[in-house]
Amino acid sequence: MQAFNHKKLLHTIIDDLQSLRMLSKNILKDIEQQGELSPDVTNQLSDLIKQLKVNLALDSDADKMHLIIEGLTTRDHILYKIIQSVFDTLATTATDRIKKCEHAECYLHFVDTSKSGKRRWCSMELCGNRQKAAEFYARKKKKSRS
Ligand SMILES: [Zn+2]
Repeated sequence: MQAFNHKKLLHTIIDDLQSLRMLSKNILKDIEQQGELSPDVTNQLSDLIKQLKVNLALDSDADKMHLIIEGLTTRDHILYKIIQSVFDTLATTATDRIKKCEHAECYLHFVDTSKSGKRRWCSMELCGNRQKAAEFYARKKKKSRS
């Protein structure tokens, strides 16, 4: 019975995460297309938030006291953490700094914290170098043909 409940919870959370991913894609689409959230996406977020049950706790173990927000259940806690991150990003980031990675095969978005605001890739080490290598070989190929 215990294993069954665990598996059921896992499937519920996977479904929730897939819904949240779809909602995040809609948020990014709104930002790309109109620079702000549409009423439809705002309502979806609002509906999701209403479902979550959280609890406030005080953490005084360290030198300072911290207010901790915890989901009442595992599901509440996981979804709360992700939604909090979405809200933090939207509250602290100009929408033109939320960008899609320019690498053709990458589906990630990132927050451009560069001074110039011209960052193109989610990660220079991964996508940036892959892109530059591809451009280098494309130029080399073109040169050898002419
Ligand atoms: Zn990328």
